[in-house]
Amino acid sequence: MNEESCEISGPEPVDSATDLGAVYNIVEIFHSVQGEGFHAGIPHVFIRFGKCNLQCEWCDTDFEKFDEMAAVDILGEVMKYPSKRIIFTGGEPMLNDLWPLHRLFKSRGYQLSCESNGTIEIPEGLLDWVCISPKDQMYPQVKIRQRSGDELKCVYVGQELSLYADLMDGFTHHFLQPCYMDAESVEWNGNNFALTEAIVKTSPPWRLSLQTHKWMGVD
Ligand code: SF4
Repeated sequence: MNEESCEISGPEPVDSATDLGAVYNIVEIFHSVQGEGFHAGIPHVFIRFGKCNLQCEWCDTDFEKFDEMAAVDILGEVMKYPSKRIIFTGGEPMLNDLWPLHRLFKSRGYQLSCESNGTIEIPEGLLDWVCISPKDQMYPQVKIRQRSGDELKCVYVGQELSLYADLMDGFTHHFLQPCYMDAESVEWNGNNFALTEAIVKTSPPWRLSLQTHKWMGVD
């Protein structure tokens, strides 16, 4: 997993019919600037998959509304945009077999990242960047199976950071993110920001991650 440039040149990719015909539940595909975590500020194409194995109360994704889409159509949609970086998100993207999409996109020079809740182990070599956002603060009984990656990103609601003690060494970057809910008041969200800022100041190596896309009013 690294951050190297992924531009390639050479012959046209040869796609298998099996890969092109793989079907996924897709909520939406859109081009936007990553608003949070290590890659904040960098444009990506987001592929949002339907369904999740958790039900977090602050979840802002309607992952039960999706359409079936063949990989060939996903490819066509993504290639409309100039970004060569893709984020698989959800819902929980790792509920899917992502190898067909991996082959189709890697052969075209794309950089592949995921945002996952960590409850499903991610096959080695599938992705260039693994961001795990465990939900232990909601589901302390749920086992985190993906225990290594590039980025550990946790929504902070006042939980003990010792919850993550045995995960820290497996990840290169560690982010705490204030819980932000559209339906709540400016004061409520502001208090969460202050709480998170305060804990980050006294808890290295955690860094503050803000959902800047929400402040900007974009996806
Ligand atoms: S794990 Fe993520 S997508 Fe699933 S319910 Fe929680 S916040 Fe929503």
